[in-house]
Amino acid sequence: MKTAPGSDGLPPLRDVIGRYELAAKKSLGQNFLLDLNLTRKIARAGGDLSGRTVIEVGPGPGGLTRALLMEGAQRVIAVERDERCLPALAEISSRYPGQLDVHSGDALDIDWSKLVGGGPPVTIAANLPYNIASVLLTGWLETEPWPPWFDRMVLMFQREVAERIVAQPRSKAYGRLSVLAQWRTEARIALHLPPEAFTPQPKVASAVVDFRPIAKPEPSCRVATLSRVTAAAFGQRRKMLRSSLKQLTAMPELLLREAGIAPERRAEDLSVAEFARLAQIVDRGDLARR
Ligand code: SAM
Repeated sequence: MKTAPGSDGLPPLRDVIGRYELAAKKSLGQNFLLDLNLTRKIARAGGDLSGRTVIEVGPGPGGLTRALLMEGAQRVIAVERDERCLPALAEISSRYPGQLDVHSGDALDIDWSKLVGGGPPVTIAANLPYNIASVLLTGWLETEPWPPWFDRMVLMFQREVAERIVAQPRSKAYGRLSVLAQWRTEARIALHLPPEAFTPQPKVASAVVDFRPIAKPEPSCRVATLSRVTAAAFGQRRKMLRSSLKQLTAMPELLLREAGIAPERRAEDLSVAEFARLAQIVDRGDLARR
């Protein structure tokens, strides 16, 4: 077979989809990327992949998987729920012997650190199924112990979710996900993609977010406590904190005073560091003794 420069010698993705009859299923969030130039750009968004292990959720027909391998990933461990995709992925495994492990199953049931089992630095890279993207992301961001088993994530979301992740205080998009993501990682939008980039076209635009875990997030607190604080505060985001934080503690005013935060402020106004400071004081557990 004659191979175009820069290609991997495997058939075009459109042919693969046709040959294995991979009609997209909406229930599995299937919107495929068929342009290898684009998937290679996504693969590169998280920096140099040489020597790395990459965890990929939902390889589908393998557009991003092929790009990750072409961009130098040493090993790709892919988890795919749709068994129809397995023969297409097996073709990629044959082209890259020993470099691609495909796990057939549900990404929501995986023990990730066990799957990776130590070894070289790990990147998580995925064009995520949008129906479970936030759940997967929250799970990775809440990993314990921290720093986690991965040191980079390059993930595609619906644009609106990507904007929530990087949102700043006093914006409508700022919320629980922004606080968690920005406390534990440096997150930035690396790429915007229009609906036309996918087959079939989704109704919404998408964006790739590049996350780098922060080794020691400051101020330090338990991630579970931070989650309780943000749930209470954003659960009633228009209320003053002295009222919304009653969900969390019997003494919200004392907690806020200790943190140096005016009780009239609202969830939307607080910085990520201020949320973590509140959680840190809750963790200390001595408010009742004051
Ligand atoms: N990576 C491919 C691409 O970029 O063209 C496909 C991306 S598509 C948006 C999402 C993929 O996730 C599909 O292949 C779908 O079958 C798979 N998927 C959906 N739910 C899943 C789950 N719970 N666990 C593992 N894979 C899942």
